Amino acid sequence: MIELLFLLLPVAMAYGWYMGRNSIKQNQQIAKQDLSIKYSTGLNYLLSNQQDKAIDSLLDALKVEDDSVEAHFAMANLFRKRGELDRALKVHEHLVRLNHLPTKDKQQAVFELGKDFLSAGLYDRAETMFLKLLKSKDYGLKSLTYLLRIFQSTKDWKQGISHQKQIVKLNDKRLLHTLANFYCELATTAFAKDQFIEVIELLEQALILDPDSCRANWLMAKIYEKHQQCELAAKCYQAIYQQDKEFFPDVIEAMLDCYTRLDEVDEFYKFIKNVYDETAGSSALIFYLAHVEKKHGKKKAIEFILSALKRRPTIRGFEHFVTMQRLPSDTEVNNKSLDLITDLISGYLKLKHRYSCRTCGFDSSTHYWSCPSCHEWEQLKPVRGLEGE
Ligand SMILES: [Zn+2]
Repeated sequence: MIELLFLLLPVAMAYGWYMGRNSIKQNQQIAKQDLSIKYSTGLNYLLSNQQDKAIDSLLDALKVEDDSVEAHFAMANLFRKRGELDRALKVHEHLVRLNHLPTKDKQQAVFELGKDFLSAGLYDRAETMFLKLLKSKDYGLKSLTYLLRIFQSTKDWKQGISHQKQIVKLNDKRLLHTLANFYCELATTAFAKDQFIEVIELLEQALILDPDSCRANWLMAKIYEKHQQCELAAKCYQAIYQQDKEFFPDVIEAMLDCYTRLDEVDEFYKFIKNVYDETAGSSALIFYLAHVEKKHGKKKAIEFILSALKRRPTIRGFEHFVTMQRLPSDTEVNNKSLDLITDLISGYLKLKHRYSCRTCGFDSSTHYWSCPSCHEWEQLKPVRGLEGE
């Protein structure tokens, strides 16, 4: 009899296992049904434009199933894009509060929450979120980028600089470029107070972070000139040409002034001839023509500009060409006609923007170091082409 009981034992175990398995399956089935009811209710609310009820229902579903996290991120981002920030915040805050989420999802939720606060103009709260992620492998660089954007908006340059160590460690060119401009902002303030040594030290730091920052060299040239160190200023202007040929037309006049004070005007024209040969820019051409006219006479200068305009026609070059036709010995009627043409051309050019942002295409007649549209630094440069340089 006892043997029979022993024989029945595996059968009982198998039965127990089978029943248990069925019970788990049943529980899972019930949970899934519950989830799908919550989802379909949420979707129904969404479709009937009752978004707040939809969010509650879908967030409730999230408590049960982690697989839907991505869908929640997508939903919140959609809300943010539509400008419904309170709804995006509600979803992201809920995700941050969920303890059982994997670290990666949790960090994403904190990051997105930071972006929500930033869009809402709540800089303090956004800063707190991004600061939490500085050590994150996935979100460290992105968070630092947003932090610098916040400090740029609040003009808190020193706060930005306080993150220098990490920015240098990450070695991200764009962040280094931004930080160099933070130093330039501080240098501009020190420049206004004529704090010579402080300006130089700040600009040296800027150039260490970003050797391509022509703004740092431009400011350095200004402070050297102000303190009668024109030789050093001339070197800065030359460096700007090496750094950024597109920005260079804006410093030619200041450079001529600097060389004039050094009594080395011939050196300047040698340099500017080289600039013209390499870039064929209209500013370099117009400045160089003054030298040709002085050295070789007006006839040679007119021949030079004619061949230059054939090589690369620009409206500014043509305007200068018309001005050169004006002769003191000419009749009043002839000169008046030439004046009329020049006025028409300069009127036309005034309608055109002098600068365009190389990043977003924003056009402006005024120069800004930070683009008013995309906020990138040192991207507004003189327009190239027929109506520009
Ligand atoms: Zn821009």
